[in-house]
Amino acid sequence: MEYLDRYLPKKNCGRQLWSGIEYAVSGGGWAVFGFPFAFIAPAFDWLQVEVTSYCNAACVYCPHTIYRDNWLNRHLPLDTFQKLRPAFRKAGLVHLQGWGEPLLHPDFFTMVSLARQAGCRVGTATNGKLVDASVAARLVAGGLDFVAFSLAGTTAEKNDFFRRGTRLEKVLEAIRFLQKAKEEAGAARPAVHIAYLLLRSGIDELPQLPDLLEGYGIDQVVITTLDFVSSPALVEESLFLTERTAAEELLSSLQEVAARGKERGLSIYYQLSVPGQRKQVCSENVQRALFISADGLVSPCVFANVPVARATFLVRGAVRRYGRMTFGNVHDHDLFRIWRQKDYVNFRRSFSTGRLTAFCRECPKLSCAQNE
Ligand code: SF4
Repeated sequence: MEYLDRYLPKKNCGRQLWSGIEYAVSGGGWAVFGFPFAFIAPAFDWLQVEVTSYCNAACVYCPHTIYRDNWLNRHLPLDTFQKLRPAFRKAGLVHLQGWGEPLLHPDFFTMVSLARQAGCRVGTATNGKLVDASVAARLVAGGLDFVAFSLAGTTAEKNDFFRRGTRLEKVLEAIRFLQKAKEEAGAARPAVHIAYLLLRSGIDELPQLPDLLEGYGIDQVVITTLDFVSSPALVEESLFLTERTAAEELLSSLQEVAARGKERGLSIYYQLSVPGQRKQVCSENVQRALFISADGLVSPCVFANVPVARATFLVRGAVRRYGRMTFGNVHDHDLFRIWRQKDYVNFRRSFSTGRLTAFCRECPKLSCAQNE
């Protein structure tokens, strides 16, 4: 997801140069130079793998809740995951998370181990419901590099309302379990991260975020907004602001929270769509990363691959029919082949030619402001 670049090592000039070379010989090279580069494996910054689309929570803003009647519940089969190992060897990070709760997958820890064996960093994100002392010990023993916990409020009143089926207190307890397991194992990892969803009716709670998290040994907090609006009732919550002044006001509150976090030893990052701040490429790093859903479909990002059969969603209040934008299935084809196929290469090129797909054209991720 959008915060994954925060989990990679800082780029230096050498790495950037190497990245350029890797890009040239990967799908980008295919786009620019053609055939000779089609057989050289690409290097990915990250691969995001949805190990399951099942979830044990019912967050009010989540497509899993809104689309529940048409939701495609799946576990990614372990043998499909194993087929991805050559690609893992070419990735900096494998992030095991999508639209479901990863810890529900019966083979989750085997998957962590397979990804670790491929030599890449491994992370996941959880709602914390299943993290007790024994699961925390397995997360540590499994060698995960980071675990992100999701929150959407700083009080039980707001968080537990938005994130129905989860509890703020349980998330904090899960973090304590994980920190204790690290201490007992003498391990520095996994780093503990917070993926914080800011909704409009949660803005008043935002200033309390640094106080809430102080003392929990949190390595990173990333604040994002609701970018996929699956119901008319959520339009107001989305913070897809149309007025620049309103966006600037909110940006300044976010800056203040980040500064107060810094005083307490917390690294707080944020992303916010700002009108008039249009970028050529979205913030999802689609030239060097991709998403694989639990049913094996490959897409540039999670928004393009919501596991639902029939649905509508909303863009700036207007209803649109939802259709997944995918480029192949890893059940049928090698991931490198999918990455290099013409329609996917053309999709990646669309950001430089300006001929974006209808789905991308209106995406808030094209106008994101963020702090460093
Ligand atoms: S612009 Fe397209 S690829 Fe990028 S995040 Fe939006 S929908 Fe995904």
